[in-house]
Amino acid sequence: MTVLQVLKFPNPVLKRKSALVTQFDAALRELAEAMLETMYVEGGIGLAAVQVGQLKRMIVVDARDGVGEDEAERRNPYFYVNPLILESEGETVSEEGCLSVVEFTADITRAEKVLLEYEDLAGETHQEALEGIKAICVQHEIDHTKGKLFIDHLPLIKRQMVKKRLAKLARSA
Ligand SMILES: [Zn+2]
Repeated sequence: MTVLQVLKFPNPVLKRKSALVTQFDAALRELAEAMLETMYVEGGIGLAAVQVGQLKRMIVVDARDGVGEDEAERRNPYFYVNPLILESEGETVSEEGCLSVVEFTADITRAEKVLLEYEDLAGETHQEALEGIKAICVQHEIDHTKGKLFIDHLPLIKRQMVKKRLAKLARSA
């Protein structure tokens, strides 16, 4: 089991754009598995490769929407390589947090439903219609691949205040 270090705001790598994945090899599969393990250890429902310092357009998501008594049984992981939102519909507001943004959550507006196009770990292209928490999570993770954090969705004044506070918190940690 490999657990990777999750980069925290204000690490400048989090602002960088991830590159298209073109090599669907063993290294990509290993990274995907390590990202998943890291996400479980950290208790998250999604993780983008940039959060572990890899500027690749790959995200892992697990909304724990499987069937079972406990958390481990409900695990239902998905790997999305080069994810792209083709269509979005509706609006929904929910409280978001992020493994890269410690001790802060905020209500963020997202599309309610999205049509996602992505490649799997073998490089096959798929489409999937998403709604609910998984749709929200995928939008949050795709933002990461573009160098954007959920706090970047806050109104300007609030965003500046929050970033200043989080940067101070990070310095004193
Ligand atoms: Zn995040």
